Amino acid sequence: MATKPFVSGTPPRTGARHASEDLLQIRRVSPTGSHKPNTAVAQAFYNHAEGVTKLTTETGAGQWGSSLAFATAQYGMDCEVWQVAASFRQKPYRKTMMEVWGATVHPSPSEVTDYGRALLAEDPDHPGSLGIAISEAVMMAVQDPNTRYSLGSVLNHVLMHQTIIGEEALRQLEMVGETPDVLIGCTGGGSNFGGLVFPFLREKLAGNMDPTIRCVEPAACPTLTKGEYRYDFGDTAGLTPLVKMHTLGHAFIPDPIHAGGLRYHGMAPLVSHIYELGLAEAVAIPQTECFSSAVEFARNEGIIPAPEPTHAVAAMMREAQACKESGEEKVILMALSGHGHLDLAAYDAYFRGNVVDFDLPDESIEAAMASVPTIG
Ligand SMILES: *Cc1c(COP(=O)(O)O)cnc(C)c1O
Repeated sequence: MATKPFVSGTPPRTGARHASEDLLQIRRVSPTGSHKPNTAVAQAFYNHAEGVTKLTTETGAGQWGSSLAFATAQYGMDCEVWQVAASFRQKPYRKTMMEVWGATVHPSPSEVTDYGRALLAEDPDHPGSLGIAISEAVMMAVQDPNTRYSLGSVLNHVLMHQTIIGEEALRQLEMVGETPDVLIGCTGGGSNFGGLVFPFLREKLAGNMDPTIRCVEPAACPTLTKGEYRYDFGDTAGLTPLVKMHTLGHAFIPDPIHAGGLRYHGMAPLVSHIYELGLAEAVAIPQTECFSSAVEFARNEGIIPAPEPTHAVAAMMREAQACKESGEEKVILMALSGHGHLDLAAYDAYFRGNVVDFDLPDESIEAAMASVPTIG
């Protein structure tokens, strides 16, 4: 019988079926490392279907920008991203990732909008903020009829796209015959949290389960626990429609000392609403506890969390510790929204003692809240 030679070291092939199964496995992993492609791909798809050729957006840590760059590349669309200047300097590889997928990236404030130029004239080292970067991306989109602005969190359609997380988690828990007692997610704009918890909230409201639902936010940007439930702008220049949400004020600029992401001044209207109704609770956690919990988690579970979900990890470990002490058994479900492979600089800073705790002073909140418009 003739046998085909194979190069030594190459395992014998077992046929095409094997190869396509491998591909399927690969495709299950988020190409950008976070939950954000769940909405990026949907938004690129619908814009492409309407004949839009370019999307603009802002990005903080770079996860949203890289997700939209990935998604637009799938549909042959252009993508232009304004990345918060502080993170543009700290995270050069996120920019490279966006460029690999074909996006154009500017630090924000940038030289390409009047607003950015005005801010740079005041302070050439301006750290930027998500609110400012949103303003710049919106300004560019309104100038071109073939361009739209795309937002990666906060808005209702984004949270709806993200509910795929909770729908899958419901089925997975069903497969092992469990229902959760506690749901935990970190909240920046509210999309990974809303995406995880809303399908479970549906089941809770239908009387099928009764989990505690907990938002976790940074002590340095405590939108739910210290912000007010008011109509406010989504961006710093005041270009977006007013949204009723928990807000620290659209003029809020987080302290650059904060390493853990989740720096947006507002919170998804839907997450703010369930918080106001008492259907979800919120806790703010200081960043050293977040990083120490994440390091312990990585050493036990092998996964290095992104800085944002270190907040969820810390809250999950508090809950597990309380169970250990009380002897009560609980099923805790946590959203691990992304990996931290491109955020190792933050872990490095933590190991070197450069991550310090920072409680947002009340005066900073009062000053930023003064920017919130008074309605009626
Ligand atoms: C963007 C991001 C967040 C924060 O945004 P949400 O809308 O609150 O989910 C959290 N984790 C990761 C990994 C992110 O990329």
